[in-house]
Amino acid sequence: MSLLLERARRARVIAANAAVVEACRKCAIGSTRTNSVYGEGDPCAALMVVGEGPGETEDKLGRPFVGRAGELLDKMLAAIDLPREDVFICNTVKCRPTLDDGRRLRNRAPDPQEMKNCRPYLDLQIDLIRPRAILALGAPAAKSFMGEKFSITKQRGQWYDGPLGIPVIATFHPAYILRQTGGELTAMKRLVHADLKAVRAKLDEPVPIVEAPVVQDTLF
Ligand code: URA
Repeated sequence: MSLLLERARRARVIAANAAVVEACRKCAIGSTRTNSVYGEGDPCAALMVVGEGPGETEDKLGRPFVGRAGELLDKMLAAIDLPREDVFICNTVKCRPTLDDGRRLRNRAPDPQEMKNCRPYLDLQIDLIRPRAILALGAPAAKSFMGEKFSITKQRGQWYDGPLGIPVIATFHPAYILRQTGGELTAMKRLVHADLKAVRAKLDEPVPIVEAPVVQDTLF
């Protein structure tokens, strides 16, 4: 099948799955969110970026990483020559986790049950897109792949075996980077840049040639 046809087929599957997620009410946040945020990007992307969960802007627009953290993510990807449209961006949970402080809804990290409920949707995305690498942003996303004991400060920037044997690497979440200042910001940017370069190198590795099954030896 041509890449064009395959991309169109996957886009149809993504649209159907996004509709299932939109109707999902497995968690209470399914009823407090404005829009579900399924994910977006190239259905044939070599890189999948997985964040924590939608924030306020994402909830309003139904799109992942479109607030301030999203702006930084776009810059991070551009630093390794990856336009946002060329990757697939999604989150561990598809609804905005919130905390009602009596005056307004505040963002919070997804809880373990929400991540568990939403995991089949993420697994379907990975299975459909079959990226060559996954970049996990922040501790919750990294732990969802590498386990609860994963330390983002000690273990970021290293490759791990992820779902379906796909390599996963973690780096700091752009929202966390945005909260740093001065020397800490400079040091963190340096670490993140090294992690991104590791992603670039992984994507630049030659794609192994998979032999197609022989259905017919000769045409004539
Ligand atoms: N932070 C995330 O983890 N995901 C988004 O989509 C936006 C901000």
